[in-house]
Amino acid sequence: MSEKFFIDVHGCQMNVYDSRRIVDTLTEAGFTKTSNSSDADILIVYTCNIREKAAQKVFSRIRALKTSKTKVVAIGGCVPQAEKKNILKNKDINIAFGPQVYHKLTRYILEVLSGQTEKILDIEFEQEKKFGHLVRRKEVSHSEFVTIQEGCDNFCTYCVVPYTRGREYSRPVIDIINETKELLQNGAKEIILIGQNVNSFASEAPYINIGQPKAVWRIERLIQEIAELDGLKRLRYTTSHPKDFTNELMEVHAKIPVLVPFTHIPAQSGSDRILKMMNRGHTAKEYLNKLANFRSICPRIQFSSDFIVGFPSETNSDFEDTLKLTEEVKYTISYSFKYSPRKNTPAAAMEGQIPDDVKNERLQILQAVLMKAQLEFNKSLIGQKYEVLFDKIGKYDKQYVGKNVYSQSVIVESDSNMIGTFGDVIVERVGQNSVFGKLL
Ligand code: SF4
Repeated sequence: MSEKFFIDVHGCQMNVYDSRRIVDTLTEAGFTKTSNSSDADILIVYTCNIREKAAQKVFSRIRALKTSKTKVVAIGGCVPQAEKKNILKNKDINIAFGPQVYHKLTRYILEVLSGQTEKILDIEFEQEKKFGHLVRRKEVSHSEFVTIQEGCDNFCTYCVVPYTRGREYSRPVIDIINETKELLQNGAKEIILIGQNVNSFASEAPYINIGQPKAVWRIERLIQEIAELDGLKRLRYTTSHPKDFTNELMEVHAKIPVLVPFTHIPAQSGSDRILKMMNRGHTAKEYLNKLANFRSICPRIQFSSDFIVGFPSETNSDFEDTLKLTEEVKYTISYSFKYSPRKNTPAAAMEGQIPDDVKNERLQILQAVLMKAQLEFNKSLIGQKYEVLFDKIGKYDKQYVGKNVYSQSVIVESDSNMIGTFGDVIVERVGQNSVFGKLL
């Protein structure tokens, strides 16, 4: 096959994982990946539906990337899943496919190329079938994602994930272990286990003792097994839900050296009233108690979080509660956003939508508080030694950028190429978002 494809990826780590598997599948089928969109016969945009006006952004992305050479335009991921057949009203789009059916993309592209059909929509939920069709990885990087779980049953009232990724599905343990082993044998050093809610992972044990009932492994057991695999230098996982985070997982952090002492536990709000309206399933006190308990079990642990400001009916007093919560936890890294309604979610229909200027003001205040804590933490690193996995070159000559155990960007100078290697770094100075150091 002589056709070349270009893939443009947006959104979360799940999308990055999916897009890499799409590349593997199309390459296996004989298509060639190009990093130049104007050279592509097939244009694939893999989309995220989290931000406002996601569909419009996809359409303008297609306009920017499509050329006279483009024969097929395929849109994948969460936007087609949310927009359904409406997405095909756009005249440029030939194929719209959801996140659970990308194993069928080769067939759909061939159908369009051969003139058999002009428009295809497939937004079925087929997680199990999709994972069963994954092909061997063609390229392995030093840091690789492995999906362990997909979908979500939590139905937070602002979130589209249960509607776009579907209900919770955990991959078979043996498939996860085999995929991870293969990545490690082919050069991966860091593995990041990913899922919408990894704490709900539950999958049948790969080893069955005769006469014993089949056991179910949770993430705690899976991490311990993966930590033993040859070649693994660093292990992470994301994303967690506070209500499902167990003491056992905290203990696993305390006893497994390759598991980073850092975890993302999204709080979203510090107000019990707003947390209830969000359907988060816990109070601010329960969240804080969980983090305090985590620190007592594993004193090295650091946290990151997500926050939403301006959720419907949020008062100044609710917002103050969020500020108080952040001041108590002192996050290492935080991600904060203005609430924006998502089509067909319960929160979009709630009364008391907050004006944009109020959301802007609250976001600015919250980010200033979060940044202050982040900078204080960064300053506490000065003079300390950290292991860094380098993954890109920096802005200036001889500069390399990598990640420490807290997922912070660490910048050093080196005469030799550091990409894909670990190095011990003494932290010399810090900014709000970066750490500068010297290689030992
Ligand atoms: S737990 Fe996360 S993915 Fe699931 S509904 Fe809530 S915000 Fe969305």
